[in-house]
Amino acid sequence: MPLRIIKSLSLAEAEDLFKRMNEKDYRARQLFNWLYEKNIASFHEMSNFSKELRNSLEREFTVSPLALAEHLKSADGTEKFLFSTHDGNYIESVLIRNEGSDDGRITVCISSQAGCPMGCRFCQTAKIGFRRNLETGEILDQLCQIRRVTGLRNNNIVFMGMGEPFMNYGNVMKAADIMNYSFGFHISVRKITISTSGLTDRIERFIEEKRPYNLAISLNDTEHEKRLANMPVEKKYPFIGIADLLQRKFPVSRNRVTIEYVMRKDNISREDAQRLKKMFRYGRIKLNLIPLNRGDHDLEVPSEEEMKGFIRELESMDIPISVRKSFGGDIAGACGQLSGRMYSNMHSIE
Ligand code: SAH
Ligand code: SF4
Repeated sequence: MPLRIIKSLSLAEAEDLFKRMNEKDYRARQLFNWLYEKNIASFHEMSNFSKELRNSLEREFTVSPLALAEHLKSADGTEKFLFSTHDGNYIESVLIRNEGSDDGRITVCISSQAGCPMGCRFCQTAKIGFRRNLETGEILDQLCQIRRVTGLRNNNIVFMGMGEPFMNYGNVMKAADIMNYSFGFHISVRKITISTSGLTDRIERFIEEKRPYNLAISLNDTEHEKRLANMPVEKKYPFIGIADLLQRKFPVSRNRVTIEYVMRKDNISREDAQRLKKMFRYGRIKLNLIPLNRGDHDLEVPSEEEMKGFIRELESMDIPISVRKSFGGDIAGACGQLSGRMYSNMHSIE
């Protein structure tokens, strides 16, 4: 039987574990401190645990469920990490240095699934199909390993790597909660963003459960038929329900929801801009425009002029607009380019 993943345990579950081992509750907090704050690679580094206790933990659990298979660095400072899981899946995470941003922040983009079931036409991850949901510990271990390899701390976290986070809702929320725990990574809830292709019922659940994390929604089109052709999710969850839901339910006290919009040659007309304006005229959103990255798709990348024209059309909107700079294109680490390189290799051999 494979070992269980210790990083999949919540604090309450870790307390239960120690109770079962006839140990005190506070061991759980100590464990979290070792796992996340000190970011250990082996139970044997936990010097305030007896040798016996370390051994029994080691018999049942693994600290690092992922193995780093490859680490690439882009000319622009972006780093891509390819990890393999115990069952032979590959997932990718990306570290982005937004040097130009106000706070010079570093963002870690992590995966929530191996592959993705959503089938978006423009996205490389969709090409792999769906392998499986990642466990909470596999989501967290991406961040642990990246911090260990790079020595960096204080990251922003975006769930924008491989997969649809809301198709793995429970494990993603648990991982985000653990990232936020004060005796672990202690990452502020405002620095954690979860991006979804728009599963309205899960968005509603997210709001109702008062999950404190930032929410981003990938809209990418302003017409039903066109969105359906690019994002199959539109069939079950038409985008029109999203604007409506945000208007009805999203509390004004919260950070604005980010609406992501990948700019293609065929979705940035004046009419698209008008429809966007109309759709969100009451909404507390911010718009994040993403130039389409190249990949194994048949969609056309717009020219700089065309994108500027679209942005000019939108500027009269009373909402913040940002344009996402593309990082890591030379190592296939930009948005929508994550495929788990091993899979692409296998494809090219066939
Ligand atoms: N599955 C989630 C999060 C991962 S995708 C989601 O879809 O929101 C992260 C972002 O990358 C999404 O906004 C998606 O629309 C965008 N994206 C996918 N393929 C892209 C491409 N080829 N060029 C630019 N952005 C892309
Ligand atoms: Fe999945 Fe997001 Fe890619 Fe769509 S864009 S296939 S939801 S990872």
